[in-house]
Amino acid sequence: MTKKSILIIGGGPSALMLAAMLDERKFEITILEKGAAPARKFLVAGDGGFNLTHAEPLEQFITRFTPSSFLEKSIRSFTNDDFRRWLSAIGIETFVGTSKRIFPVAGIRPIDVLNTILKIITRKDIPIKPKNTWKGWNENHDLIIDHNYKDHIVKADIVVFALGGGSWSKTGSDGSWMSLFAAKGIKTIPLQPSNCAYEIPWEEKFITEEEGMPLKNIAVFCNGKEKKGEVVLTQFGIEGGAVYALSAEIRQQLNEKSNATIYLDLKPTLSLVEIKKRLANRGKKSLTTVLNDALNLTKLQIALLKTILTKEEFTQPPVLATKIKQLPLKITGMAPIDEAISTVGGIALEEVDENFQLKKIANQYVIGEMLDWDAPTGGYLLQASFSMGYYLANKLNND
Ligand SMILES: Cc1cc2nc3c(=O)[nH]c(=O)nc-3n(C[C@H](O)[C@H](O)[C@H](O)COP(=O)(O)OP(=O)(O)OC[C@H]3O[C@@H](n4cnc5c(N)ncnc54)[C@H](O)[C@@H]3O)c2cc1C
Repeated sequence: MTKKSILIIGGGPSALMLAAMLDERKFEITILEKGAAPARKFLVAGDGGFNLTHAEPLEQFITRFTPSSFLEKSIRSFTNDDFRRWLSAIGIETFVGTSKRIFPVAGIRPIDVLNTILKIITRKDIPIKPKNTWKGWNENHDLIIDHNYKDHIVKADIVVFALGGGSWSKTGSDGSWMSLFAAKGIKTIPLQPSNCAYEIPWEEKFITEEEGMPLKNIAVFCNGKEKKGEVVLTQFGIEGGAVYALSAEIRQQLNEKSNATIYLDLKPTLSLVEIKKRLANRGKKSLTTVLNDALNLTKLQIALLKTILTKEEFTQPPVLATKIKQLPLKITGMAPIDEAISTVGGIALEEVDENFQLKKIANQYVIGEMLDWDAPTGGYLLQASFSMGYYLANKLNND
């Protein structure tokens, strides 16, 4: 039986998982990567928290993706538990952190995880060819590949695009493929930052004193969605897990009216009634002292209240209590796209079928962050990329 050829363009996690799972007895597989080495963004991700996935129950896990219906089948085919089991089987032990994020155990570096996956691919004799950049199609839907500053026409029975999103362009994922798909009549949605910092024009004196400080154990609300966690104050505005998780809601408001409002609950463990009671029973103590003593608010939380609220609001205990539970922060912009952890936008979801095959070009598929889905950071992005690679490999192996 002659083997079918599969060309995978891009060498990020979705591409590597696909290659690792494809049946090499059935397919002649090649990976073409634009950079000098594969998975540079995966290694960048490893510089920070390196959350490979997240340990929450599957039904809740699936709801974190937008739209969850698009990714549900792939995630169910290779769940967060499956991912951990697979990592363990290839020698990458993981642990669940306090935030339920899943990390490799101490001593296993991101490069070790990558090399372990690359070893599987090498064992299958799948070449990863660096410095090969996809530049478009010819009239027969064959691929135009730039290698050594020369264009080559490359044919394959099956093509899988896994070109990543549009942030951290120095890793190779620069979104420059958008115009190539658009020129082919394939609908693309403009790339926008997700999981990024948001701009707040802080009072100069306040932010000079508080820059880099975290607001811990708070709840953040936007458009009716709540996320508990941490927010870090920066010169630019705010960043951190709790705001990243509300990226879709914040972005929607910014797109509609060029500013957005989020609300902080600085004391999620106490009800409004209880806070009002404690403020009312303050006797001769100043409000600042009571905020500290009776409510256990930090110096940063009290400074934040003072910079956001008017003097009248801060000095009226019932109003102050309401604001502790619902402090409005006005966001005026997003960080530049290149600084975002991920991007939303890309290939419109209606352009692919349930197996990620392009409806306009048979036997050509798109997986990973280049499709228009979104998820918070914390392991969801990598899980989605690995799951899509797994799902497509399974589908092709069984065709
Ligand atoms: C700072 C940072 C921290 C992160 N932390 C986490 C985290 O802790 N947990 C998590 O889940 N996710 C995290 N992510 C996100 C995660 O790394 C990405 O979502 C994931 O890498 C996307 O995988 P992908 O396979 O779709 O594409 P990518 O990893 O972006 O790979 C795409 C590849 O395609 C190549 N390519 C692009 N265009 C072409 C072309 N024309 N021809 C040939 N090759 C091309 C690129 O060079 C690149 O190697 C982080 C991202 C960043 C930037």
